[in-house]
Amino acid sequence: MGYTAKIDRELCVGAGACIESAPKAFEFDDEHIAVVRPEAEEEPDGKLLEVARECPATAILIYEDGKEVDIFG
Ligand code: SF4
Repeated sequence: MGYTAKIDRELCVGAGACIESAPKAFEFDDEHIAVVRPEAEEEPDGKLLEVARECPATAILIYEDGKEVDIFG
C-alpha cells in the first residue's frame, strides 16, 4: 500500500496550494479547510509528498502503513 494523506485541521490556513497542485486529491470543506478526497489514493506517492512539502503550514501529514513519514527526511 502507498502513502495516505491527512490534513491537520488546526494547522491548515486555507491557502489552497494543495488544491491547486492536486485538485483530484484535495478540496475545501464548507469551513474553507482542506480535506483529503478518496481519489488521493490514486496519486503517486511522490506527488503526495511534493504537495505536503509545498503546504505553507505543514498541515499535510503523510502516512505509510500507519506510520507518519518524515516529509523533509
Ligand atoms: S496547502 Fe496546506 S494550508 Fe493550504 S489548504 Fe492545503 S493543507 Fe491547508
